[in-house]
Amino acid sequence: MDFSLSEEHLMIRDAARDFAKTELLPGVIERDNKQEFPTEQVKKMGELGFMGLMVDPKYGGSGMDTLSYVIVMEELSKIDASASVIVSVNNSLVCYGLEAYGTEDQKEKYLTKLATGQSIGAFCLSEPEAGSDATSQKTTAIDKGDHYVLNGTKNWITNGGTADYYLVIAQTDREKKHKGINAFIVEKGWEGFEIGPKEDKLGIRGSDTHSLIFNDVKVPKENRIGEDGFGFKFAMKTLAGGRIGIAAQALGIAAGAYDLAREYSKVRKAFGTEICNHQAIAFKLADMHTEIEAARHLVHKAAWDKDQGNNYDMSGAMAKLYASKVAMEVSVEAVQVHGGNGFVKEYHVERLMRDAKITQIYEGTSEIQKIVISRGLLRD
Ligand SMILES: Cc1cc2nc3c(=O)[nH]c(=O)nc-3n(C[C@H](O)[C@H](O)[C@H](O)COP(=O)(O)OP(=O)(O)OC[C@H]3O[C@@H](n4cnc5c(N)ncnc54)[C@H](O)[C@@H]3O)c2cc1C
Repeated sequence: MDFSLSEEHLMIRDAARDFAKTELLPGVIERDNKQEFPTEQVKKMGELGFMGLMVDPKYGGSGMDTLSYVIVMEELSKIDASASVIVSVNNSLVCYGLEAYGTEDQKEKYLTKLATGQSIGAFCLSEPEAGSDATSQKTTAIDKGDHYVLNGTKNWITNGGTADYYLVIAQTDREKKHKGINAFIVEKGWEGFEIGPKEDKLGIRGSDTHSLIFNDVKVPKENRIGEDGFGFKFAMKTLAGGRIGIAAQALGIAAGAYDLAREYSKVRKAFGTEICNHQAIAFKLADMHTEIEAARHLVHKAAWDKDQGNNYDMSGAMAKLYASKVAMEVSVEAVQVHGGNGFVKEYHVERLMRDAKITQIYEGTSEIQKIVISRGLLRD
């Protein structure tokens, strides 16, 4: 067993850390205030290879492993979780989904642009009445021979307004239940495809979240991903890997909040000494650091499982469940360490606290992760 990172992993960590400090930190408060998408920063992340980290270089990707991906996610999320969710959705839901299950033509046409960051992707599963219960798809894709006709509404879609390509899950044959669900590649601008208003959110406010409306949208048959009826399996398989990315995002939020709390505790004085000399504050730091280390081990283990070709359903779910809990607890404590300053935007920790909450909700709520874990435990 070797817990040390390789030279390559250290290099990618330093590149992501440097980028986050120099390119994401300036303006992060303003983007959060204005709900402004980090357009320039995403472009630069594309140039650095962050938008297609695990994609084969023959499709324009960086050809790295899942461990590199979670390392990058942690570093970006320490500073800007809005930017990191854009990276996460593009990498582990859209690029991974296309590379693992798309045809050569689909990869040529779409993956090559998504992996380089030339184009942005979105993953569209949730609906007004189908969140945790993703099998209750109301969006329909009716088979018309050489094309499908798509009708329905998707909710809460990350990159909803900025994406160029959308992976859309829809019900083709209701009688077959989840085996009658398909996944499609839909392009922005196709007739009948409308982007709904942007959501006004508690956290990750720099990422754009929209509902999407499909009104008789004609989708060519060659844009279906996998065999007829593969859509639900496709969604579950991609989300299993996506969860590792969100676990890394949660880890980064926790680590970012801890770093700020630690630094602040060494300069802020109360009762004639730096507050870190009060045991109540020092013990908070000890707890935070311990929990972050434990979360990092779970995240790296899940990434390792994926890289080894092991099943990662349970390890990914455990990493997300635990890291998101740690993100919430650590960010609340980081605000506490900052006292009144923790409550104002200038000190960053209040934003990290607001951003932490979403990691317990999207790509499967914490309750859903417990269902995945307990089913895995009880399976013979
Ligand atoms: C900012 C943001 C970005 C998002 N991005 C995307 C995206 O890009 N693509 C996409 O497809 N979706 C996206 N989502 C949707 C997200 O994945 C769903 O919100 C999430 O899966 C929960 O679904 P829901 O909101 O319908 O909650 P519900 O399913 O209605 O759940 C409500 C509560 O009930 C609990 N619950 C439900 N079923 C059970 C059960 N069987 N046992 C125990 N508890 C249960 C849940 O855990 C939760 O606490 C995003 C959401 C947000 C807020």
